[in-house]
Amino acid sequence: MSTDNRFDYVVLGAGIAGLNVADQLHQRGKSVAVIDKNSPGGGASGAPLVLMNPATGRRAKMAWRAEEAVELGASILKKVQEKTSTPFYKKNGVLRPALTEKIGKDFSRAPKKYEWPSEEWIRWMGKGELEDRYPFLPDTFGGLLIPNGYTIDSKIFIEEFYKLLGKSGIQFFTDCDYSISKEQDGVFQINIEGVDSILTKQVIYAVGAGISDIDSWDFLPLENVKGQTLTLYFEKELKMQHSISSMGYFAFLPETPNKLVIGSTYEHGYTHLNTDVAAKEKLLEKLQNTLPGLLSSIEKTEQWCGVRVTTQDHKPIIGPHYAEKGISVITGLGSKGMIHSCLLAKLLVDHLEKGQPIDQTVSSERFFNR
Ligand SMILES: Cc1cc2nc3c(=O)[nH]c(=O)nc-3n(C[C@H](O)[C@H](O)[C@H](O)COP(=O)(O)OP(=O)(O)OC[C@H]3O[C@@H](n4cnc5c(N)ncnc54)[C@H](O)[C@@H]3O)c2cc1C
Repeated sequence: MSTDNRFDYVVLGAGIAGLNVADQLHQRGKSVAVIDKNSPGGGASGAPLVLMNPATGRRAKMAWRAEEAVELGASILKKVQEKTSTPFYKKNGVLRPALTEKIGKDFSRAPKKYEWPSEEWIRWMGKGELEDRYPFLPDTFGGLLIPNGYTIDSKIFIEEFYKLLGKSGIQFFTDCDYSISKEQDGVFQINIEGVDSILTKQVIYAVGAGISDIDSWDFLPLENVKGQTLTLYFEKELKMQHSISSMGYFAFLPETPNKLVIGSTYEHGYTHLNTDVAAKEKLLEKLQNTLPGLLSSIEKTEQWCGVRVTTQDHKPIIGPHYAEKGISVITGLGSKGMIHSCLLAKLLVDHLEKGQPIDQTVSSERFFNR
């Protein structure tokens, strides 16, 4: 625990990455403060409904270290749900219909090609079976079912995770400005608006898209990509079970059967951080292509936008700074924050606390010679 204003670690950012890092540190008996310029979940982690989908990309490849990542991610969901009265997630599987012949061919090969562990993870269904089981789909070329897919109300999850960590003794400073200076003895002094300064030897940057404003990390090849979602409310309950991923995602929680969230657009080089009509039209077009019967029965819509951080090799980045002692980063979670954040937080804390080497696939070291 902390003595006065000294903490073993200060985590910057209270999105899914920062909260998982704080949790991992706390579990190992470390004193932790978390600072967020905004509210927890004020960044990309506040997307309305999100998927934890281990089958990624157009070919349904298995996500990096998917087995461990899903197990850890699910254990956090369970831990938070146990303390929360509103059900906010479900392992309801993700359906991936193939809407073109090419996608159908790729999907049918995916279970073997990407060495998926078993049918508990991925199952190919031919055109006949898919259309029999899911008559609301348009003409397909078959499809995949990913039983280990989760749908999460991320807003509730982040809010409850934050409250749980606060109760466990992690100190949060939110909606505040702050400045950091480094003393000669390697201690960081962090002056937080309206509060006494706090001291630490270890600062972890988990600031999501805020990373692009921080000079120390400008050697990392990151790109901020804006995305928008559209939440649809229907008068009647939808007769769906799984969420769907097909050129965008259609997130559905059986607990809220009148609601569907369509995500998302990919906007590189965006010029504003608001929602807009062009994105809404694109998302409705995705709806029309994948669930054509629904367009006419929408009662109400809500739009949301956020910015995710992506990397050129589509792999996240964790680890130390190449030159400055005492600072580390967790970033580049792209569109897989839900699946990877807990595993990445664990690997980063294993490195900081036990000196364990970080898997090169995700280590910040891969950019040290650039
Ligand atoms: C439209 C959209 C849909 C998505 N859908 C999915 C999905 O279905 N499944 C999935 O797994 N992922 C999805 N993602 C991606 C996922 O949201 C991100 O990977 C994840 O939220 C990133 O978490 P983070 O903690 O790194 O960043 P964030 O959630 O952005 O958190 C960063 C936090 O840091 C704070 N901050 C910023 N700058 C500073 C600073 N200088 N100091 C202190 N605090 C700071 C912010 O206020 C914020 O709270 C989606 C993203 C978008 C945009």
